Amino acid sequence: MARYTEAVCRQCRREGMKLFLKGDRCYTGKCAIDRRSYAPGQHGASKKKLSDYGVHLREKQKARRIYGILEGQFRTYYEKAETMKGITGENLLKLLELRLDNVVYRAGYGDSRNEARQLVTHGHFLVNGKKVNIPSYKVSANDVITVSDQSKQKELFKGFAENQKTLPAWLNVNADNFEIKVISEPARADIDVNINETLIVEYYSK
Ligand code: SF4
Repeated sequence: MARYTEAVCRQCRREGMKLFLKGDRCYTGKCAIDRRSYAPGQHGASKKKLSDYGVHLREKQKARRIYGILEGQFRTYYEKAETMKGITGENLLKLLELRLDNVVYRAGYGDSRNEARQLVTHGHFLVNGKKVNIPSYKVSANDVITVSDQSKQKELFKGFAENQKTLPAWLNVNADNFEIKVISEPARADIDVNINETLIVEYYSK
């Protein structure tokens, strides 16, 4: 499976902001953005005003990096969002949020989306009783995601009930049963990512 290979913190430095790609480390003094907030590379520290194109490009790259998606797949999401009813930018974010790796992350499994993606690829989750190990799998309203019986015994999942994150309104978690229920598809107001989706739509519309 193709995935990002660029050093993780470098991606935040490129976007000039914390993208929270490394879980707990992002909240410590070890965060690269706190220590070196300029872009990587020889000329990274010199301040350049972005062109109009640059502003749009950066927003698209930022979204790709937050969700850990390669260019081709991201474009496919955009094309799908365009064909859906409603506002294209919001549809795009909705599709990204409905990825199985994101849902698992939102529910509190894994410190980062990357970690959640690994949990999915390692086959720890079932969707409506069937094993799914595809991080991009799109969940739907009323789907129930559970941890497999075998995986529940693993150290990795111990203490999950005590380490719950704040849940988005469109998910429900029964921590004792290791169960996530997708109540509905997320509305834009439910998606707390620092992304201006309109800029991404404009990027692809040029
Ligand atoms: Fe980004 Fe986290 Fe690395 Fe900080 S620690 S630069 S927020 S991935």
